[in-house]
This record gives sequence, structure tokens and C-alpha cells, in this order.
Amino acid sequence: MTTANIATGAYLVAALLFILSLAGLSKHESARRGVVFGIFGMTIAVAATLSLTTRSATDLAVVFIIIPIVIGAGIGLWRAKVVEMTGMPELIALLHSFVGLAAVLVGWNGFIQTNARPVAHTSEATTLLQIHHAEVFIGVFIGAVTFTGSIVAYLKLSGKMNSKPLMLPGKNILNLSALVVFAGLTAWFVIEPQMWLLVSVTVVALALGWHLVASIGGGDMPVVVSMLNSYSGWAAAASGFLLSNDLLIITGALVGSSGAYLSYIMCKAMNRSFISVIAGGFGVTTKANTDEDLGDHREVAVHDVAERLTNASSVVITPGYGMAVAQAQYPVAELVRKLRERNINVRFGIHPVAGRLPGHMNVLLAEAKVPYDVVLEMDEINDDLAETDVVLVIGANDTVNPAAAEDPASPIAGMPVLRVWEANEVIVFKRSMATGYAGVQNPLFFRENSRMLFGDAKDNVVEIVNSLS
Ligand code: NDP
Repeated sequence: MTTANIATGAYLVAALLFILSLAGLSKHESARRGVVFGIFGMTIAVAATLSLTTRSATDLAVVFIIIPIVIGAGIGLWRAKVVEMTGMPELIALLHSFVGLAAVLVGWNGFIQTNARPVAHTSEATTLLQIHHAEVFIGVFIGAVTFTGSIVAYLKLSGKMNSKPLMLPGKNILNLSALVVFAGLTAWFVIEPQMWLLVSVTVVALALGWHLVASIGGGDMPVVVSMLNSYSGWAAAASGFLLSNDLLIITGALVGSSGAYLSYIMCKAMNRSFISVIAGGFGVTTKANTDEDLGDHREVAVHDVAERLTNASSVVITPGYGMAVAQAQYPVAELVRKLRERNINVRFGIHPVAGRLPGHMNVLLAEAKVPYDVVLEMDEINDDLAETDVVLVIGANDTVNPAAAEDPASPIAGMPVLRVWEANEVIVFKRSMATGYAGVQNPLFFRENSRMLFGDAKDNVVEIVNSLS
């Protein structure tokens, strides 16, 4: 059996492992197994690619392949070890930008290499060359959009850039023009491949990627993150065509389609139109109402909260990004245990975009060993909130904002939220009256039945647990 045959077999096994990995990652219980399948799949894929490449390469070239792999793997392991859970989304956005950049470089390399090679003047060779040029152009375009789009997502998620939408005049026309220019340049490049056309499409795509993501407001960022995940998959698939690497095509298509499906699920969960978000179209006709006077808020002390909890028969906890920042999940789990010992019905209500990445809250609660059966999705708990005695909003803000349901002018209008204000009493754990990620003021804090418990969520929950003891 030749090395090429063994490598093809290995690619097939790796592709199957990637599919099993995705299947595993779709549920808490099997997520670890999914990660292990992914690690094995990637190890096999890298080994097979190396064995194929090293057949025709000199010893020096092999060293030049191994060194960056070792350095890259080292940096990756180090980053994965030190990254905080709350820093995960921005790290993922940054990693997507590398995939985009790689696709641009592979495309450029494909063009330069083909240009340097003599070509037979048969009609078949011309057609193949034209297909190759189209692949180069499309790969560079998707890669460049992914690259700058992911960098803007990274800057927004890490707070280095304002999460408010950029509103250039005629923004939709700008996006549409970029697509029309891309289509025109592609046709031109296929007929008459020239370097300046490739430079032009790279510049247009870099600007489009930046503009698309910059135009999207904070509340719609979850969809953008999964959309960029999808783009990075398609960029990798385009590179696979250029490098004639079947596994890269399969893997890219898997990432591209699963990312697109995740974006669709997120859009449904947030009541957004998929097409509009891809077109960078939300948060444009509305303005953040941070300066509006909503009245006075009322504060509450820790011992008061402990007393209200002991007098309650049903309690719902709706966690958000602040619980992750404070790392309050462990004392929260302890609080749940203590309340359940007193026969109080305690459940969690999880909003699909609470935190900064899909499933963020579920991961934290699983980490703290909260039983799965008391962790309910937003749709499962929303109708029960009106009959709940006390709701503890721990570090959540946008996901419990009544403006989304009641104010059509709000930037998050139409986004389904946890209707915590329907409960008998709501206690909001946060450090100040600051807005959440979407930059929108929250009328919940000023409602009659709401009380603010200011301070770090972890410190306050620990104190409540101590009072209950
Ligand atoms: P928000 O970002 O709306 O609010 C979090 C709140 O936590 C803040 O108001 C903050 O208030 C408070 N907080 C921060 N640190 C602490 C602390 N140590 N102790 C107590 N409170 C703290 O969170 P939500 O989870 O409700 O909403 C998520 C938002 O993020 C949505 O807008 C969503 O669209 C967006 N998003 C979600 C993604 C996802 O995939 N899940 C991805 C990207 C964005 P204060 O500073 O006053 O303490």
C-alpha cells in the first residue's frame, strides 16, 4: 500500500472522528467524549498530512514544517490553560481571524505559484485554470471578510472597542456595493487573472468584514460570533480546494454548516432575521436609552434577602455574565443545596444568550455540580415565573430586560427575555446601575417589586449562605 493510500484512509478516519466529535459536543453528558474524538481526529489528520508532505520535501523543509507546529501547539496549550472562562469568546474570535488570514495567504500563494508555472494551451487546461482562479478569488474574499470581521468581534467582546453599532450613512448600500464589486472582479479575474484584481478584492473584503461586524450592536453579537465560526469553516474549505486536501474541505464544510446552523438557532432564540444579521443590519433604527429617567431604585441588605428566601416556597435563579465574572457559581450551588434542604423549590432559568458564549451558564453550573434537572431553559421556566415567590437575578442584565418585550424602540426590542418582573419579588445582584453588554438601560431595576443587592455577586451569595447557616 502506498503512503498516499494510507493517508487517504487516515483522512477518512479523521473525518469520521470529527463528525463524532460534533455529535458529542451537542450534549453536556457527552461533551468530554466529543473533545477526545476531536483531539484524536486532529492528531491523525496532522500526521497524515505530514507523511504526504514529507515524501517530496527535503530534510530542511520538514524541519521548517515541524518547528512552527511545535511553536503553535505550545502557544495554543498555554493560552488554553490560562484563559478565563469569561475570556473564551474573544479568544475564539481571535482564532477565527487566524483561519481567515490563513485562507487569504493560501489563496495568494495559489495564484503566485500558478503564475510561475507554464500552462498547456488546451481548452481543458484553460477551463481547469479558470476554476482554479475562481477558487483563489473566492477563498481570498471569504478569508479576508472572516479576518477583519473576527478582529472587530474580538475587540468588541474584549471591551477594547465600543459594542454600539457603527452607523455609516447608506451602510446597506455600502455592503451591497462590496458584493457587486466582488462578483464583477471575480468574472474579470477568471477571464484575465491579474495581480491588481487580487489586491483589490482583498482590500474590498477586508473593509467589508470590518464594516459588517462593526455595524452590529452588542445584543446581536452572539449571532455574529457563530456566523464568523461558520465563515471560518467556509474559508478553510476554500483553502482545501486550493491545496487539493480532501480532509480540509470536509472539515471546513462541517465547521461552516454547523456554524451556520448554530447562527440560525441563535437567531430564532433571539427573534432575529438570519439574513438581516448576516447583512450587518441590526440596531440601526433605534438608539440606546441609557440617559432616560426611569425613577428611583430600591436597595436591599444581605440579611433581608436571606429572610425573604427562607420565607419563600419557590425560588428561581437567573444567572448572567456577572455570575461568570464573579465566579459565583460555587456559592450559588451551595445556596441551592441549603434552600433545597429546607424544602424550597429552587430552579434555574437559563437564557440562550446569557453570558458571552452559547451554553456559558450551563457549563458554569455543571462545573459547580448543580443537578441538571433543576436547570431549565428560558422557554421551560418563563410561564412559571408569575407563580414564583423570589427571583434572584445574579449578574444578568440584558437577558431579563423588560424593554425587549415592551419598548419597540429599544435596540433589543423583540429579543425574548426571562420575564422575571412577573414574579412576586426580584432581587438583582450587581455592583452598580451600569448597563449590560447591549448598552441598554434596564427598567426592571426601577420596578416596585425589584430590589438591588449591590456588590460582587460571589461575596453577596457567600454572605447569604452564611446567614442561612
Ligand atoms: P449582561 O452583559 O447584560 O450583564 C451582566 C451584568 O453583570 C452587568 O450588568 C454587570 O453589572 C454585572 N456584573 C459584572 N460583574 C459582576 C460581579 N462581579 N458581580 C455582580 N455583578 C456583576 O449579561 P447577560 O448574561 O444578561 O446578557 C448577555 C449579553 O451578552 C447579551 O446582550 C448577549 O446578547 C451578549 N452576548 C452573548 C453571547 C453569547 O453567546 N451568550 C456572545 C456575545 C454577546 P455591574 O457592572 O453593575 O456589576
